[in-house]
Amino acid sequence: AAPPETHAFEADVSKLLHMMVHSVYSDRDVFLRELISNAADACEKLRYEGIATPALLGDDPHPRISLTLDPDQGRLTIEDNGIGMTAADMGETLGTIARSGTKAFMDRLAADAGKADSQLIGQFGVGFYSAFMVAREVEVFSRRAGTDAAACWRSDGLGTYTIAPVDLTEAPPRGTRVVLHLLDDAKSYAERFTVERIVKAQSGHVPVPITLLEKPDAEGNLVADGAALWLKPRSEISEEDYADFYRSVAGQYDKPAHTIHYRAEGRYEYSVLTFIPQSKPFDLFDPDRKGHIKLYVRRVFITDEAPVLPRYLRFVRGLVDSTDLPLNMSREMIQDSPVLAAIQKGVTGRLLGELQKLADSDGDAYLQIWENFGAVLKEGLYEDFERREALLGLARFKSTRSGDGWRSLKDYVADLRENQTAIYYATGNDLDRLSTSPQLEGFRARGIEVLLLPDQVDNFWTTVGVDHEGKPFKSVTQGGTDLTLIPLSDDTEAPVQADSDAVDGFLAFARNALAGAVSDVRVSERLTSSAVCLVAPESGMDRQLEKLLASAGQ
Ligand code: ADP
Ligand code: MG
Repeated sequence: AAPPETHAFEADVSKLLHMMVHSVYSDRDVFLRELISNAADACEKLRYEGIATPALLGDDPHPRISLTLDPDQGRLTIEDNGIGMTAADMGETLGTIARSGTKAFMDRLAADAGKADSQLIGQFGVGFYSAFMVAREVEVFSRRAGTDAAACWRSDGLGTYTIAPVDLTEAPPRGTRVVLHLLDDAKSYAERFTVERIVKAQSGHVPVPITLLEKPDAEGNLVADGAALWLKPRSEISEEDYADFYRSVAGQYDKPAHTIHYRAEGRYEYSVLTFIPQSKPFDLFDPDRKGHIKLYVRRVFITDEAPVLPRYLRFVRGLVDSTDLPLNMSREMIQDSPVLAAIQKGVTGRLLGELQKLADSDGDAYLQIWENFGAVLKEGLYEDFERREALLGLARFKSTRSGDGWRSLKDYVADLRENQTAIYYATGNDLDRLSTSPQLEGFRARGIEVLLLPDQVDNFWTTVGVDHEGKPFKSVTQGGTDLTLIPLSDDTEAPVQADSDAVDGFLAFARNALAGAVSDVRVSERLTSSAVCLVAPESGMDRQLEKLLASAGQ
């Protein structure tokens, strides 16, 4: 065979590896979850490609992962019979930052240099490279399904790696073998007790069976059965099972705040297992607003790129397994299939319904979800006309009356003032500044509640003609807001009626002085202690929206 070729890692990878090698992160166990999840992904990729090209499966159609311990040599080996990698694949995927989570991790690291590296590792997980937390050397032997060549990738994690072709006998007949030469203080990862405990705790529900061999050539015993958790009845699944599965399916490191698991029957049949995370995933506001629901067809993983949920539910993690989609349909065709559209509709309705149920039964738990994801859910107010009512029902707001709590529209409407015909709101980007805005004075004086909307998205949905129980949403900065019909609160002093000639004279003067800068100057009911404020014309754009569009160069 040709001699190994030496390559330098991408600069970012080197940095990352340096951190792994010097990691003080206490939960090193997570490396095993990362390597097992890669092995399972490889099996799922093969299962999918095997549909169109059955020859790839050959006489070994059942996916499996094996862990082999070698305590004498201080070695742990993770092997799968999945899709495998060619030498070229290895250079691309193991020498660069392939994983978007890893990229985000590096960005965060650069952004808040003060934060302990170890904390961040725990928050993100960094895929394959986490092997270097426990290994002084990592070897990857692989043979891509359907090829007649094998290769070995090898690195000590210190800046370079080599790739060399190897004899077919040195690699698995198909798939990948990752050999970890354990660091002195990580030798326990070659012991049965430790490895079995970790696999059961972290990877017990990956959809590929895992066997453990106590030493090379020993008899293997099954440590995870590879059964699809989502197809089991809820009564047989514990909260820990769900939490493990959530972490392995979502690559998240927290716990689910809420789990929704059910089977839809009727025109279309599918199983749904979804989770709402407890903390905000790092990519929540990425411009591509990518979703994270895996689509399976009869237990075969198809894609995590299909629009199973609308974008405003992109914080939801988990999977949908359909019985009706044909297995041999291309990923692209699945995206456009009416079956998928029906599934999207069904799952979306169900999720919103479950959130409403939670809001009714456990307000605190619901508010935690709203605090994390409300700004995302509100995107649905302008994107999903059909579900606007449901989303308005779920919406919670800060207002001039909320204090530290939150107000629903139901609360708002129950406390309407006499003659009040609109739901008033103020948008801005800072809650404190919003709540002290002079625009609110006239409303406060009349005891009218004003919703304070600090999120970017609030500038959009408020402009699409949203109303609730026949009450339109109205910005406090829009002119002509007729407050005179609503009496001042008892504790507010009535304004002194100014002599109207003097007022008219002043208005004429002000219009003249400000000509070109404003379109009109008017006496206002909206102020009590401030002298003036700027408002937008009744039919004009809201001031905040105007600012936003201006800053976007429009
Ligand atoms: P991710 O799994 O999120 O893509 P990783 O860092 O865990 O990121 O892995 C990087 C890439 O290396 C994978 O996307 C895959 O292409 C490749 N890879 C890693 N392990 C295996 C394996 N056991 N079989 C095939 N490919 C693998
Ligand atoms: Mg991975």
